[in-house]
Amino acid sequence: MVHGTIAIDQARCKGCNLCVTFCPQHIIALDTTHLNAKGYHPAILNDPQQECTGCAICSVVCPDVCIMVLREPAVSRRVTQEGNHV
Ligand code: SF4
Ligand code: SF4
Repeated sequence: MVHGTIAIDQARCKGCNLCVTFCPQHIIALDTTHLNAKGYHPAILNDPQQECTGCAICSVVCPDVCIMVLREPAVSRRVTQEGNHV
């Protein structure tokens, strides 16, 4: 499985909850302990099990383009005749 993570620009987040609702892994929440300068509870990633797949749904649905998605480099699945992964 591809692993990913996200970086949220919390200063620009307006706490609309869309990313929280649409993340299929349910690993984004609003930080109710913190208000940003705009007066909103910003989104935070809560992914202790590293379940983020880098699917980018959160980034696509964010109306303010606050989320950058980072994915691990693709790993080749090709196997040589000698059985080595390349
Ligand atoms: S990239 Fe996908 S799995 Fe990762 S936080 Fe965003 S919506 Fe969730
Ligand atoms: S979708 Fe964007 S603006 Fe809305 S809570 Fe998530 S990061 Fe913040």
